[in-house]
Amino acid sequence: MRVVLAEPRGFCAGVDRAIAIVERALEKFGTPLYVRHEIVHNRWVVEALRRKGAIFVHELEEVPPGATVIFSAHGVSKAVQTESRERALQVLDATCPLVSKVHREADRLYRSRHRVILIGHPGHPEVDGTMGQLPPGCMEVVAHTADVANLPPSDGRQPAYITQTTLSLDETAHIIAALQARFPDLLGPAREDICYATQNRQNAVKALAQECDLILVFGAPNSSNSNRLREVAQRAGVTAYLIESVQDVQPEWLQGVASLGVTAGASAPEILIDALLTALSPGGRLSDTLPAPVTQVDLLSVSEEELVFSLPEPLRT
Ligand code: SF4
Repeated sequence: MRVVLAEPRGFCAGVDRAIAIVERALEKFGTPLYVRHEIVHNRWVVEALRRKGAIFVHELEEVPPGATVIFSAHGVSKAVQTESRERALQVLDATCPLVSKVHREADRLYRSRHRVILIGHPGHPEVDGTMGQLPPGCMEVVAHTADVANLPPSDGRQPAYITQTTLSLDETAHIIAALQARFPDLLGPAREDICYATQNRQNAVKALAQECDLILVFGAPNSSNSNRLREVAQRAGVTAYLIESVQDVQPEWLQGVASLGVTAGASAPEILIDALLTALSPGGRLSDTLPAPVTQVDLLSVSEEELVFSLPEPLRT
């Protein structure tokens, strides 16, 4: 059996930065150090940081006044920022700079009296944070093409869309086309809001689908970009499973598979893929159940990533 690893896969620059912020803050300020929400959507990452001393909370009211709190990579609403000031919290903001860029765009469009439409999945923390850049009720959300027909008619303001950063490129293109058909004067961002990491990982999974019979996507069930990777693989005609760890792999999935594709969402650490390769190698947990031994592990690279984001000022030295 051949195993093909997608490249790029796993951590992106925003996730690297968010994790580094927690680790550096622990080194510099010690404990207690609070993190609002999962710093990124991956329990292995969260558990590793918890073991180092980070305290994860759901809301700021759980953080004692004056303490240091880190905002997750998904970003926060203006209301959360205001609450942190009222509680005199020391904030380290791990919001991915590419999410912050969407926040600024939303704010700019609203101030220039546009009707702001967000393409994204309601309930995801990034969408909550982006919607929270405007006063309540001032941003409309569409998650699917069918939602476009339910938007109220034009109200005189020019409509403009922004998007969640981790959407499916293809599905988003369909939603934008539906919005353009409904609102011919629709304004869009000069450049795609879907981030480089999401685009590169989706392109890599499409390439994997050309060569593989089965694709395993490492990622958390609540990770938007990981779910999109599984969907992209499925849409390309290949069976794909989203798994949190090698323990989730069912031996029957591998029956008849000659070429196994593997990728990982932007918040899934490489140790998870290492564990899969160990389980597939001779003597490993899955080796006896394979239709044929693994004879080859290849990289299928579609692009290289070199982007690095700088840390917030207090952590640079
Ligand atoms: S997936 Fe994209 S937007 Fe999200 S943290 Fe990574 S680089 Fe930033």
